[in-house]
Amino acid sequence: MNAGLKNVRDLGVADLGRGLAEGAFSSEELTRELLTLVAAQDRYGAFLATHEDSSLNQARRADALRAAGQSGPLTGVPVAHKDIFVTDFEHSGLASTAGSKMLAGYASPFDASVVARLGDGSRDGRLPGAGMVTLGKLNCDEFAMGSANENSAYGPARNPWDLGRVPGGSSGGSAAAVAARLVPAATGTDTGGSIRQPAAFCGITGIKPTYGTCSRYGMIAFASSLDQAGPMARTAEDCALLLSAMSGFDERDATSAQRPPQDFHAQMLRAREGASPGRPLAGLRIGLPREFFPAALAEDVHGAVRAALAELEKLGATLVDVSLPRTELAIPVYYIIAPAEASSNLSRFDGVKFGHRAPQYADLLDMYKKTRAQGFGAEVKRRIMIGTYVLSHGYYDAYYLQAQKLRRMIADDFQACFRECDVIAGPVAPTVAWTLGQTDKDPTADYLADIFTLPASLAGLPGMSVPAGFGQGGLPVGLQLIGNYFDEGTLLHAAHALQQATDIHLRAPAGL
Ligand code: GLN
Repeated sequence: MNAGLKNVRDLGVADLGRGLAEGAFSSEELTRELLTLVAAQDRYGAFLATHEDSSLNQARRADALRAAGQSGPLTGVPVAHKDIFVTDFEHSGLASTAGSKMLAGYASPFDASVVARLGDGSRDGRLPGAGMVTLGKLNCDEFAMGSANENSAYGPARNPWDLGRVPGGSSGGSAAAVAARLVPAATGTDTGGSIRQPAAFCGITGIKPTYGTCSRYGMIAFASSLDQAGPMARTAEDCALLLSAMSGFDERDATSAQRPPQDFHAQMLRAREGASPGRPLAGLRIGLPREFFPAALAEDVHGAVRAALAELEKLGATLVDVSLPRTELAIPVYYIIAPAEASSNLSRFDGVKFGHRAPQYADLLDMYKKTRAQGFGAEVKRRIMIGTYVLSHGYYDAYYLQAQKLRRMIADDFQACFRECDVIAGPVAPTVAWTLGQTDKDPTADYLADIFTLPASLAGLPGMSVPAGFGQGGLPVGLQLIGNYFDEGTLLHAAHALQQATDIHLRAPAGL
């Protein structure tokens, strides 16, 4: 083995980029090393698929680009994708399943825009690529519905900090793979918390940018007005590097934001006015909504979040009390709007256009029924039924329309807060990761645990999870930071300052 590869597992994206630039190892060597690790360590259930030949081909191309002086900071660095992003099957050899039996073995004819931008660019040359190497596809809840990764048709993923616990969801495979140091970074998607909550449960860093920042083209749709992609990695710096590459306007997504390309890394580093060396966050006002610190919040979570806030204060930030009075309503509002959109989006899985078709049926209607009964899991069916109900004639006004009105009021509450503060902070989830096997017993308990992530999702605001400390059983706790629209730079800046001053984000689960 190349001596430069020693401890390569402990290196993040930025470090690996430097190692490649200095010639300490090649992308081919690095990719081979990580693929060997993935093959040997599938006790986490994080990966659904790898394809050695195509990954190594991509790595060799990246090495050639470096040799020709045409590389960027991400060229040749491995990344793995949540299996909700489609990957061009002919090019990558990787199927796209959305964690569902419905799409078992599904061979996409194209790459999702996020995959293309991080990788080799789009085939038609429309989108540039950052040259990252796709290491494989990651486990997730079926169609991204869940908070524990237990709704995957391909089995659960496990939390590397305690294999008897869930990694969170729906991007559970992404969080587990990064926390287990099988890959330096992964993509995730967040509809109601699915980047932030698994990042918190697994002790890594993740950011869901403002709705519209990353293209949804090729991201298998769950709830279109909420779905947003984002990076998951060990540090804010690594997230900033990935987000710069994966975001940007895309004419193939009608909700994609028309903005010039953003350099989130530069935004992360930009000094604040009035900041001095020991006080990089001087002048930053962090709002603490009282509804995010209820009496029922687990004590260990509360303690870790408070400790992280105290660190931010030491770095110059000031803490102010604010209120998001409709926080509790975010749960019923989200669990009407998201299933409503899901019921519409999932109508395309009818045995004709994509994926599974029942092998035996009497007539067309019977084919639809059997196909959908066989292809979808219990949680997906539950949401299709709820969604169809709330959209049906006679109930639309009472549920869906009402939920839309409340959604607007929740967004307005945030704007009122942002008159008093620059960033909002609180916990990501009310507890640390729970034990495996509870999702089936009481699915609505999982819904309630989304209380702190749903408000920012409904408002379309950027939200971030940063490792705050450890709670019960030595399990990680996440600090949530929420910013105003398109103010990812401030979130990344605050998280980076915290990570420069502390080492919580660098700790690894025992026994890797
Ligand atoms: N837990 C939430 C749900 O089940 C959020 C999922 C997500 O963000 N994809 O819908």
